[in-house]
Amino acid sequence: MTRSGLHPAEVAGIILASVAPTPVEHVPLMAALGAVLAHEIVAPLSVPPWRSASMDGYAVRASDIGSVPCRLRVTGETPAGADRAAPLGPEEAVKIMTGAPVPEGADTVIRIEDTEPGTESVDIHRDRDRGRNVRPLGEDFRAGVVLLPARSRITPAAIGVLASAGISSVAIHRPPTVSLVASGDELVRIDGFQQVLDGKRIVSSNSYSLPAMVRDAGGLPRDGGITVDDPVALRNAIDGAMACDILITSGGVSVGERDFTRTVMADMGADIKFWRARIRPGGPIVFATLDGRPWIGLPGNPVSALVTFELFVRPAILRMLGATHVFPPTFPVTIDEPVAVSGDLTHYLRAIVTTTANGMHARLTGTQSSAALTSMMRANALLIVPEGRKEYDAGTRLRAIPLGTVPARSDTFPA
Ligand code: AMP
Ligand code: MG
Repeated sequence: MTRSGLHPAEVAGIILASVAPTPVEHVPLMAALGAVLAHEIVAPLSVPPWRSASMDGYAVRASDIGSVPCRLRVTGETPAGADRAAPLGPEEAVKIMTGAPVPEGADTVIRIEDTEPGTESVDIHRDRDRGRNVRPLGEDFRAGVVLLPARSRITPAAIGVLASAGISSVAIHRPPTVSLVASGDELVRIDGFQQVLDGKRIVSSNSYSLPAMVRDAGGLPRDGGITVDDPVALRNAIDGAMACDILITSGGVSVGERDFTRTVMADMGADIKFWRARIRPGGPIVFATLDGRPWIGLPGNPVSALVTFELFVRPAILRMLGATHVFPPTFPVTIDEPVAVSGDLTHYLRAIVTTTANGMHARLTGTQSSAALTSMMRANALLIVPEGRKEYDAGTRLRAIPLGTVPARSDTFPA
């Protein structure tokens, strides 16, 4: 039997077609880490802005050290941060520190170890540095070059480059606001935990894990609360959560008689783009736009909610942040245990990937129940098991999606 629903790539395509980068705002440099630049940044000056020493030693003229040892007259000293010394005449040397401006006329810095300082002179006994150790003006970058193209992600190194160019604020796409509404008669917040102990309720873990995911993706979560399984209550909650760039609900998207998300979408005049994807977990995902706003109806199961977030919501947030490359990367892994699936869906199995001398190896985190959130917590990757085949022997190569910023750290220093 072929399952109904869209292929996951179609799901991503439809959702991304409904989102656009948010308006641009200017933020202080340090607030821009992880954001995406809205406009390119052109270097306002060259860095280093002058020729500078790359060693502690003596600035000299290469032509003066034609034969070593030799003795030069010391005419000054330039510590880092000091003014450039007067132009260097023949047979002269200036004592200089790393980073300090090299005087005009000098084209060489002889490292200190190759010298013997006297009172007013210096003896130079090796010439291996002839013509060396002077960093050219603009060695790092020249005035007028594009330092960072539009749409580049602001990394710690980029922050350092921008700082060195004197740029203290940047234009980025403002982080999208993401409203989250959880639905389910059984759900309470942690402060209602007594009801869990009484055996009546469960904690709405999605009300905690999904905002955390939003923040991790670079968005701003807005708490739309928990609603009971009732169309009016759900509609009221959605009305109250509309001040956002993306609306996310969890739960109520399946075929149960108390699953009202799609009914409410239709009642509110939302344009339902699709329901159901040929994936596990997360099959019953639904997507609509309401007054132009994307509304992603995630399934309630805690693992399904997080996996579908990773596959479809994070890329949407990244697109709103202005990124061009929004999909998770994949990498090859060898499975260390046999894997059996239904064969008619793409499965995203929670896996622990380890780096070994023979490449990346994957094992499952144990139960793949979409209610077992610990399987997601322990995973550092999602193993992609494509539609079509039911059984895979240990040793098979598949692909995996890393979870978290660093997928699988190694136990050995990289060589
Ligand atoms: P649903 O998608 O509403 O059919 O819910 C599927 C399963 O996920 C049920 O076992 C629910 O109790 C559970 N569930 C729904 N919403 C949440 C939530 N916000 N947090 C934790 N579990 C949930
Ligand atoms: Mg429910």
